[in-house]
Parts: sequence; C-alpha cells; structure tokens
Amino acid sequence: MEDSKKHQGLRRQLINTLREKGITSEPVLMTMLNTPRHWFMDQGLINFSYEDQAYPIAANQTISQPYTVAFQSQLLELIAGHKVLEIGTGSGYQTAVLCQLGAKVFSIERHKSLFKNAKLFLNQNNYRAQLFFGDGFIGKKVFAPYDRIIVTCGAPFVPNDLKSQLKVGGRMVIPVGEGEVQQMKLIQRLNEDDFKETNFGDFRFVPMLKNINN
Ligand code: SAH
Repeated sequence: MEDSKKHQGLRRQLINTLREKGITSEPVLMTMLNTPRHWFMDQGLINFSYEDQAYPIAANQTISQPYTVAFQSQLLELIAGHKVLEIGTGSGYQTAVLCQLGAKVFSIERHKSLFKNAKLFLNQNNYRAQLFFGDGFIGKKVFAPYDRIIVTCGAPFVPNDLKSQLKVGGRMVIPVGEGEVQQMKLIQRLNEDDFKETNFGDFRFVPMLKNINN
C-alpha cells in the first residue's frame, strides 16, 4: 500500500487538529501520525481520510472519527507489552493504532465480512493482532485477563464478561448508552470485586449488537 507525501502532509494537519481539540498523549499523536488511515477507508471515500470525521465502511458500519480513536487510546494509558482486548474490529484502524502503540491485541468482530477483510489486511501489512469472529459481549476468556479493554461500539450496558476478564488494576474504555449518544466511561478494576467508573462525556457509535452476523 502506498503512503504519499500528500497523505503524510494531511496527517500532520490532522494531528494538529487533534492537539487543538485537547489530545495531549505524544505516543498516541505520534502513532496516529504514522498510521495511514486512508488504507482503512472505503475506496470511494479516500479523499476524506484525514478529515476528523467518522465514515461509512462495509456492512453498514463506520470507521471511528480520529478524535474518538485518539481519545479512547489516550484514556487507555497503554504501556508497550500490555494485553489488550478490542471489541469491534471494523476497518481495523483502531486495531492498527493499538499494535503500533506496542500492545498485544486481541480483537473481536461480529460481522464475518469485516472480520475477514481486517484479518487479511492487517496481516499483509504486518500489524500483528489476533483477530476473532465472534460476539464481543462474551469477550475472549481463553486469553484473559487483559490489562486493557477497549469497546468501539455503543454498548447498552457494561457486559459482566468483560468486567471479569479485566485484570485487577486494569482499565476498560467503553461508550455506554442505548440511544444515538453514548457516555464514554472509564472502568477501573480496583480489586477482585470493586470497580470505579468515571464519565468522559458524549460520543456517538454504531450499536453493540448481540450474536454474530454471517
Ligand atoms: N474501531 C472500528 C470501529 C468500527 S464500528 C473502526 O474504527 O473501524 C464498530 C464495530 O463494532 C462494527 O464493525 C460492528 O460490527 C462491531 N460490533 C458491534 N457489536 C459487536 C459485538 N457484539 N461484538 C463484536 N463486534 C461488534
């Protein structure tokens, strides 16, 4: 895949926009500077790759807005080597950003076609994530516990299976809400039984849905 000077220039502008909007994590900003978002866009929308907006991808889903990707990634406070569970692979863009931040990524997608595309594409481009076709509500117990969990679809509630797969001391970033708008929540696991919840305001995601879609 190509990454032209023009695309690199547009990415520098996008990173400036993210700074102006309040993103401060240098590792996150540098990683997004170095991750070609246009590789993950629908062919017909390539020219919009470096606008700070969500866009349609296949299966009626969306590639998240860059600000949202930056905000969630920053809130995770990732350390290289962390085991990260992602729910909602979609285009694979957020997955690629997590890989570049040094995470060992396990990512679940419920749409067969999106799962297949992302798996092929990420592997071909040396993003070493483990991708799964399945229902994110139940997580992926065989590889638990996770240092970090990131949910990139709007969850009706915080799934208990995801809470139980989070390490003590771990952080989960999840947008919660049943309508058009969700509240971005940080869930910290304090010990075996106790969780602390902090609210980070309104975001919009496509809904987290139960079961798989072949
Ligand atoms: N991070 C992705 C976001 C894609 S949109 C990107 O930027 O491209 C959210 C994705 O979550 C969609 O692909 C949708 O199919 C998926 N999703 C929704 N409910 C899910 C569930 N229960 N398990 C796994 N994936 C789910």
